[in-house]
Amino acid sequence: MRIKGDGSIRRFYEEENRPLYSKVSVVKCAGYEPAGVELAVRNTVNLLGGITNFIKPGSRVLVKPNLLMSKGPECAITTHPEVVRAVIHILKEINCQVIAGDGPSVWGKYIENVDQVYDLTGIRKVCREEDVRLVTFDKRRMRAKFPLTTWLDECDHLISLPKFKTHEFTLLTGAIKNLFGLVSGTYKTELHKDYFEPPEFAKILVDIYQEARPALTIIDGILAMEGDGPATSGKLRALGLLLGGADCVALDTVMAKIMGISNQEVLATKEAARRGLGENQLSRIKIEGEDIDKLNIRPFILPVNSVKINKLPLAVKKILKSLIRYYPYCLDPKCIHCGRCVKVCPRQCIRLSARIHFDYKKCIACFCCQESCPEAAIGVKKSILAKIIGL
Ligand code: SF4
Ligand code: SF4
Repeated sequence: MRIKGDGSIRRFYEEENRPLYSKVSVVKCAGYEPAGVELAVRNTVNLLGGITNFIKPGSRVLVKPNLLMSKGPECAITTHPEVVRAVIHILKEINCQVIAGDGPSVWGKYIENVDQVYDLTGIRKVCREEDVRLVTFDKRRMRAKFPLTTWLDECDHLISLPKFKTHEFTLLTGAIKNLFGLVSGTYKTELHKDYFEPPEFAKILVDIYQEARPALTIIDGILAMEGDGPATSGKLRALGLLLGGADCVALDTVMAKIMGISNQEVLATKEAARRGLGENQLSRIKIEGEDIDKLNIRPFILPVNSVKINKLPLAVKKILKSLIRYYPYCLDPKCIHCGRCVKVCPRQCIRLSARIHFDYKKCIACFCCQESCPEAAIGVKKSILAKIIGL
């Protein structure tokens, strides 16, 4: 059995004549102390019926955390290695062969140093200690219209381990967005360049989800991120939750609810539900574990960027779009002149001399520069109209 567009778990369920559920488990976990994480991850899976509901014993499983960039787990940019370790333990108990890896942020001519990412995020240490093969996504095969890692072909199941974060371009990054890391190399840049409107980019994310659906997803929201996520410009948020499920649409819907966002605002979730790929109606999602209404979670601070314009009616949006704009700018004292933003910009509109200069005529407001900046040195400024009407 190999991971295909219709999802190996779906076929597994059908083979066993079991019902399909849009079930999401929500489990509290106060911190990253290993024993506590292990217990919480086990509860997350057990509330869904146990690991064998998703993974065949003895199979080969690709585990894909979110390893966006070379930062330590305390920054909450990447999936914590103890969450990965707990999943490895569960899979080993049913004699699975585990392979771990991710395609970190790759933009333009700049390729994130994967070795450094694996070292700093702590994933290499965990894989070494657990005797798990850690791979890079350097080989690819065209699936649908995307060059996806061939490790999908080599494995029977995919387990996705996203991080619970806001995202300046897609509003949130959770179950569906984590799959963007399956796209190989600089093709990610091409997608950002060609599909720079949020609704178009959302369709791309859903295309990828349609092609490579994980058997199981566990979202690390123990230490989450709010504000200008998903990288160094975001703010840490101690949330203390893990979310699990097989339906990424349902997972992102519950995640949006916890963040205080309407599910209609998350374009990828909306598009995936429209295509019948999952459930985005909370009333039709069975939440096991914590009652999220009783958790009294303060709404997340959302990114200050162009996503907000999507809340406006289409006609109004068309009229105002050229006037309501968001621009990256450099917070000079923080900038270390590493030049990384220059290399990642899909429109080549950043120039580095004594200072960073942006060509706003060419800028498409994708905020890849902000996402890749290691020093949180890129902020977002609003046009005058955006300020006046409070967007
Ligand atoms: S803004 Fe950030 S990415 Fe760009 S040169 Fe400065 S520190 Fe590097
Ligand atoms: S300068 Fe504009 S186009 Fe270039 S990466 Fe930043 S936001 Fe995107």
